[in-house]
Amino acid sequence: MKRASALLTWWYLVVGGICTVVAISAPQAGVREALYLFACIQIGPVLFFACRRNGVSTEVAGFLVAVGLLYAGAQLVSGDEPTYTNPLAVALGLAGTGCIIFGLVALLRRRGVTPTEGLLGDGLIVGLGAWVISWAALVQPIVDETGTTAWSTVLYGMYQPTASVVLFLVVVVLLDQRNRPASMWLLASALTFNLLGDLLYALIDAGHMPASAERVALPMYIAAFFCAGAAFLHPSITQVMRPQLPSRRPVMGRLIVTTSSLVFPVIVLAGTSANDTTDKIVRSISAVVLAAVVTARVAQAVRANNVAQAELLHGAQTDPLTGLPNRSVLLQQINDLMRGSWNPDTHPTLFFVDLDRFKNINDSLGHAAGDEVLMMVAQRLTNAVPDGAMVARLSGDEYVVLDPAAKSQGASMALAERLLAVFREPLALSQGDVFVTASIGVAAISPTSSTSPEDLVRHADTAMYRAKDAGRNCMAVYDESMHERVAHRLAVETALYRALDRRELRLFHQPILDLHTGEVEGFEALMRWQQADGTIVSPAEFIPIAEDTGTIVPIGSWALLEALTQLRRWIDDGVCSPSATMSVNVSPRQLGDTNFPAIVSEALTRSGVSPQLLWLEVTESVMISEPELALATLRRLRSLGVRVALDDFGTGYSSLSLLQKFPLQRIKIDRAFVHGVADNPNDRSLVRTIVAMGRSLGLDMVAEGVESVHQLQVLSDLGCGKAQGFLISHPVPADAMRSTVAALERLGQFPGLRPNVSAPVN
Ligand code: C2E
Ligand code: MG
Ligand code: MG
Repeated sequence: MKRASALLTWWYLVVGGICTVVAISAPQAGVREALYLFACIQIGPVLFFACRRNGVSTEVAGFLVAVGLLYAGAQLVSGDEPTYTNPLAVALGLAGTGCIIFGLVALLRRRGVTPTEGLLGDGLIVGLGAWVISWAALVQPIVDETGTTAWSTVLYGMYQPTASVVLFLVVVVLLDQRNRPASMWLLASALTFNLLGDLLYALIDAGHMPASAERVALPMYIAAFFCAGAAFLHPSITQVMRPQLPSRRPVMGRLIVTTSSLVFPVIVLAGTSANDTTDKIVRSISAVVLAAVVTARVAQAVRANNVAQAELLHGAQTDPLTGLPNRSVLLQQINDLMRGSWNPDTHPTLFFVDLDRFKNINDSLGHAAGDEVLMMVAQRLTNAVPDGAMVARLSGDEYVVLDPAAKSQGASMALAERLLAVFREPLALSQGDVFVTASIGVAAISPTSSTSPEDLVRHADTAMYRAKDAGRNCMAVYDESMHERVAHRLAVETALYRALDRRELRLFHQPILDLHTGEVEGFEALMRWQQADGTIVSPAEFIPIAEDTGTIVPIGSWALLEALTQLRRWIDDGVCSPSATMSVNVSPRQLGDTNFPAIVSEALTRSGVSPQLLWLEVTESVMISEPELALATLRRLRSLGVRVALDDFGTGYSSLSLLQKFPLQRIKIDRAFVHGVADNPNDRSLVRTIVAMGRSLGLDMVAEGVESVHQLQVLSDLGCGKAQGFLISHPVPADAMRSTVAALERLGQFPGLRPNVSAPVN
């Protein structure tokens, strides 16, 4: 359809081209006039047909036909006489051009280019410039020759200025385009031919060209009609009508057109002299008006430029959401404070305010609510700070308050308290009230410090993290040791990233003893990080970091495969019984990874270990923070045949409902209770309760951290079937396991241990 339309357009243009050429070359005026009449008559139906076909409103066609009729009317009314002799013809012609200007302005608006003061001013300059030239070059000679200053002649002088405004608008439309479709060029050509026709007639009328030049002048209108028709026949006309994205094209074209409109009149005025008093008056008034308009336009451009610059500067210094100063302004302010004269009675202080769990608000209530929160917090902080203090927003939910004139450290602490208190009242969002808290890091600015403003902000940030670690909704004051801690942590984080590739991670194993049989029933794999310099880092130190950074996912997968491969080897080598199990610790981050069951399944397949021999040790945190996800993952693991143990039981919520709700098969009683089980009646009754609960739910039970025979005895008496701890064996490297197991099994049972006793002890 589109191709057919395009083809039709070009055929139509060929017809138009032939008509124009024939009209120019025909010796008889009658042929020309007949072709002109044909061009006039065909344009109406063609436009209506084209608009229908291309889905453009037929009102546009109607409008254009009206314009065509106005021009044709002017031609008809003036007949063979020059147009200026007939006021009606002049008025009709001007009305036609006026309609085109109106149509172009409407088109610009439709495309999203709203005529601004600047555009109108430029248009006026172009029109006035053209008027000056038109007066001196076209109208004056007619007045001179005919001796009339009739209104129609003066009005006739408006032809060129109005036509120039049309030309100017066409240039604006074309320059405004990112892509310029064929229809746009065809429309521009139609207007240009129309203007050329007008100009030629004006030159003939003014006596600058012979009357025979009409041979070329009239065919210009024929070409204009065909180009206009073709513009609408071409399928790209829909693009011309469509709103456009605002373009950032330089206004160079506009500048050239406007400047020319200024320069040419000046040349014409300077190069020709006035004929009589009327001419002088017209020239002078025209020059004064033109100068006034140009001055006004320049003043307007300067003003617009200043406004734009101020807006740019404001935008570069302000956070667009809250209107608060941004990081660069804050840093500049700190810098000025440190470089300026220091008042020894003041204690300038920075407060780094970070909202707690802001992500939850965004995730649960949406980003619009998040934005509302950020704006309200900005307002509350601004209201809470003393005069002269600055509140800046760094990014996201981070704000910094700079109090340059705190009277004492105590005053700074009081301000920090006030900032915390800002969050006591709920924030009234459009979706309802929400409570938000913040963690605040406080850092003092000292005159002697050689630290940069960026470092000072970082200090406050470090202290803020300290406040987060301390449980949030509180403040922490920066001190040097924090910096060292942060630097150390950063070093560990970086080294941990490479630990796996550098083969610095090892697994130690701790045997788990069956108290009834006295046999090693399985092992727990415990990770160790042996750094390049030989130091061994405890998992208690690096596992939380690995969890925070996400490194736990790859290293956890490695540990799983490594532990299972090790078990396979021990079973094959007869180090342990074929039913011995391997317990592997799984962090919440791993459990939250939907890919985790697939990783487990692959490790089982690759190691050739049966799923019943694998225990996955999980902590209850993930079951509390993301119960749905944890349940789904645990069910998928269960369906693999893998068993799941709840590690460190007794330290957290230790809720009974967890044990019922989640598919668990074992609980590991935390060593904190095992430690006191022998001597502390409270711990003992707690362990007794845990054991009773576990038994009633049919769970397997392992006591962790058994260090003394007494503890072992009490645990056995309480009915706990399995134990692990330094008493039995420390975690040992894989190659030490054969001798460890052999020693344990040779020992049989621990001296004094009464096996198979399940009677309660007090
Ligand atoms: P956990 O899973 O509760 O492991 C038991 C911890 O208690 C081990 O500490 C072990 O060495 C220690 N332990 C065993 N018997 C005794 C004893 O009689 N007395 C005392 N005081 N401690 C004993 P370790 O090896 O330092 O591991 C600490 C924690 O690090 C583990 O606690 C576990 O939560 C985590 N972890 C260790 N390896 C991994 C791993 O591969 N992946 C993950 N996600 N976490 C691991
Ligand atoms: Mg464990
Ligand atoms: Mg444990």
